[in-house]
Amino acid sequence: MRIVEAESGALLAAVTSLLQDKGLVSPAEIRERIAFTETASPALGARLVAKAWREPAFHALALRDGTAAAEAIGAFMRGAPPLGVLENRPGLHHVVVCTLCSCYPRTVLGYPPFWFKSSAYRARTVRDPRGVLAEWGTTIPDDTTIRVVDSTADYRWMVLPLRPAGTDDWSEDDLAALVHEGDMIGVTVPKAA
Ligand code: FE
Repeated sequence: MRIVEAESGALLAAVTSLLQDKGLVSPAEIRERIAFTETASPALGARLVAKAWREPAFHALALRDGTAAAEAIGAFMRGAPPLGVLENRPGLHHVVVCTLCSCYPRTVLGYPPFWFKSSAYRARTVRDPRGVLAEWGTTIPDDTTIRVVDSTADYRWMVLPLRPAGTDDWSEDDLAALVHEGDMIGVTVPKAA
């Protein structure tokens, strides 16, 4: 394992210096990207969700152009694949999976949880989404369609969950605090305490 890490470190250093030598990327750009990657977290996605729940114009923007909506809440989208927002509705629930590898909307959710990359999640979510969700304690009514959406290198997806009942007069901050990582992948659903 250590040998592999040493080799990948050397490879990274070689590719980085080559890109810099050719003027394709500057050290400042690399530092900027690392900083944004490390500050992205599910809190950003939760902000997007809360704002979409409260503001009809932003809701429409999120569904039409997720990338623009993410930029509007401060996510760093330059160079990132476009973001799509999948709205859950009564009768329709979305679950996101990258069947091929681990494509994840990092700009709005941060690093993917370990299980998102697991072959078990990737394979089983496609075959038996309802069964996988049940293991998370998420019961989707039988008459609700579960749509499994493949996140890819070209397009990243996040879920806009159903707004919990009884939250009509809640502030954006309070709503954002309800929304957790799994809710935006679709394995769990937000609940008003
Ligand atoms: Fe992937």
